[in-house]
Amino acid sequence: MDVVELKPNSLNDTKQNVELQRDLQLGISEYAPGAEVVADGNIYRSRYIARDRRKTTDWEIYYTAECPQCQIINFSKKSVDSAFCVACGTTIDSGWKKNIEPRKGFVVGNDPNDIIPAGSRKPRKYHRGDIIYLGDTERHELGLSTFHFGEYQVVLQSTTNDSLMISCDTEFSVCNYCGYAKSRKELKNYSFVVEEKHKTSYGWECSNTKLYPHKLSHIFKTDVVQLMFSDNADFGTMLSVMYALLRATSQVLDIESTDINGCLYASSGNVQYSIILYDGVPGGAGHIHRIAANESVFQSVIQKAYEICSKCECSPSCYKCLRDYYNQDFHSMLDRNAAADFLKQYLSY
Ligand SMILES: [Zn+2]
Ligand SMILES: [Zn+2]
Ligand SMILES: [Zn+2]
Repeated sequence: MDVVELKPNSLNDTKQNVELQRDLQLGISEYAPGAEVVADGNIYRSRYIARDRRKTTDWEIYYTAECPQCQIINFSKKSVDSAFCVACGTTIDSGWKKNIEPRKGFVVGNDPNDIIPAGSRKPRKYHRGDIIYLGDTERHELGLSTFHFGEYQVVLQSTTNDSLMISCDTEFSVCNYCGYAKSRKELKNYSFVVEEKHKTSYGWECSNTKLYPHKLSHIFKTDVVQLMFSDNADFGTMLSVMYALLRATSQVLDIESTDINGCLYASSGNVQYSIILYDGVPGGAGHIHRIAANESVFQSVIQKAYEICSKCECSPSCYKCLRDYYNQDFHSMLDRNAAADFLKQYLSY
């Protein structure tokens, strides 16, 4: 587990008598600069991305860009100006974003407004954003199952210790010297460089006033099942199929819907989207592997997913079928009829 803290700043550490800790998968949103946490009768507002004072090492930085052609998010550990999309080969020469992995956690601000009694205002919250499957070379392959449905087939690849990256849904303007940061939503300023005089978390005037845009992201390891279908569909349809499968999986396996999650993936030249399902519990809990363990469980999941899509009466999707609180960014893309047509080909009778 990668647990991080929202630490008190050195000026008012006596005011904060509660320890705030979270797994970094949640911490990147719940503790991000500007986010407010209610605890122990107070609202605490995060303001800094913590840095290690003793070491000279920087934050770990990743680069990501969404392909304008196929919507797959590309990832790089090195700075890039231009690269070919890993899935479709389109040149991505703009839109590359810098991501900070905030392993040292976050620090509460030192403005008097940064710690106030609970109830004085509605706490600001951010949500999780993009999820990217990275397909780590250190992953362990547990097995490959092929299930046949008439002329169609699905290949399920189970892995453990596999890597994904999760991001916060907003961008931040960050001081690279002291870690002071404000979200674009707070600033209401979308220019590339934001000028702002500010104090460090130790209360000194910071020598830097230029804030640069960054995303907050976290790479984590967990259990994964990759589903490769024998036919292909567009991004919106595959995303709809994925949310139907997630809902069906939690019902068939009788687990919490928040215990599993997913994203789309594509690689190597032709855009054939595969569906990545994973355990949300850090390190993995083995839940998701159960759908690949035997054919009848997988058949039930497909059957249930098809029912979820075909039995609803909405158009194109609603909270009873494919939509939920966490997939708000994609609501307009989710189409239960498109998903039902796709899933129909994989029914086992
Ligand atoms: Zn692409
Ligand atoms: Zn600074
Ligand atoms: Zn519906």
